[in-house]
Amino acid sequence: MPRRLVLVGAGHAHALVLASWARHPIAGVEGVLVVDRPDAVYSGLAPARILDEVDDDALRIDAAGLAEAAGFRLVVDPLAKVDAGGKRLVLRSGRGIRYDVASLDIGAVVQGLDLPGVREHAVATRPLSSLLSSLDVPGDAPLLRAVVVGSGAGGIEVAACLKARWEAAGRVVDMTVVGGRSEPLADRPAAVGVRMRAVLESLGVTWMGGVSAVEVGEGDVCLDDGHVLPSDRTVWVTGAAFPPALAGGDLPRSEDGFVRVGPTLEVAGCRDLYAVGDCAHLDHAPDTPRAGVHAVRAAPVLDRNLRAALGDGATGEFHPRRHPLALLDLGDGTVFGTLWGLTARGRWLRWIKRWIDRRFVRRLARVVARAQARRSA
Ligand SMILES: Cc1cc2nc3c(=O)[nH]c(=O)nc-3n(C[C@H](O)[C@H](O)[C@H](O)COP(=O)(O)OP(=O)(O)OC[C@H]3O[C@@H](n4cnc5c(N)ncnc54)[C@H](O)[C@@H]3O)c2cc1C
Repeated sequence: MPRRLVLVGAGHAHALVLASWARHPIAGVEGVLVVDRPDAVYSGLAPARILDEVDDDALRIDAAGLAEAAGFRLVVDPLAKVDAGGKRLVLRSGRGIRYDVASLDIGAVVQGLDLPGVREHAVATRPLSSLLSSLDVPGDAPLLRAVVVGSGAGGIEVAACLKARWEAAGRVVDMTVVGGRSEPLADRPAAVGVRMRAVLESLGVTWMGGVSAVEVGEGDVCLDDGHVLPSDRTVWVTGAAFPPALAGGDLPRSEDGFVRVGPTLEVAGCRDLYAVGDCAHLDHAPDTPRAGVHAVRAAPVLDRNLRAALGDGATGEFHPRRHPLALLDLGDGTVFGTLWGLTARGRWLRWIKRWIDRRFVRRLARVVARAQARRSA
């Protein structure tokens, strides 16, 4: 009997695992990729897309193509819940899939979607496709007021790049970023947040810290300190919340609902089940912020451990960097970079960011293209 490896979700780590399996498959293993949609979006290039430097295709990760290249069967039917005790995945259609070894890389959703008016009047940024389909210039008044709720790296980039985009379209843009902490970038050392606040000021973006949005209306955002901000476009870039598919089954979960894993990325107490990326809670590094860079860095460890679980090779451990390199596009031709509490801003950083991000997507596209060329030869 072949042993069955099921990857659920085509997040950054699984995309890289599939690329590895395309090069080094294991005989006697039946691979299955379960996804909610046949392609994924790469967030690193979202600023370039907002600024119209690239089109939608440049951000696209062809999950179906990667599955084919790796010899995995593709199942487009979202995961609904995990029966870890029975080694079975239940999909939205009701269908069950048994596994010998499985891994979850299904990302996260945004926090606070259930607050009044958010679903109706705000643009959510997870999945990223909803943001990318809402880039049009809202209304036709010369003054455009916009509010970005959320002051992590994503919120800052979205605010700066949307402002630049709409100004290039001839509008005067009054952009405000709202964040719950006194400084933006709360997961970085305090000095980085102070520097970021000065950068926002230099871009003409208003910073409102220490407040939370509690309600979104058709043309405004209500804050918990009583302020009401007029807003022609509200963008919701709050932190990550666990995806609904993690609830309902028997997965061990953290207080905030994510699936708990140890250094090998194996789910706590569940043999042969792994989780990685935004959907995972690292028990050994609980303060790790949710960022694609961690999913990318975890990929080789996950790949190694999945192979080990199938009897090929030894296991490894993933220990994330506390403050990895972050490169934030400011929409004015410069990028703000931070690493180990140090910061810099410049056009040269923008060049590095684009190079890193384009290389990631191209590398995966090459795997798909090579496999297609082999098949048609
Ligand atoms: C605007 C914005 C900009 C960002 N910029 C950066 C950046 O520059 N650098 C950085 O490091 N991070 C950035 N991030 C964060 C980054 O996008 C996420 O941390 C990263 O995408 C997480 O990767 P992942 O592998 O966990 O999953 P994701 O990339 O979210 O992928 C999840 C996958 O699972 C699939 N899926 C979802 N639900 C199901 C289901 N039920 N069943 C099956 N499949 C499912 C999805 O279709 C997708 O294929 C940004 C985020 C935002 C919102």
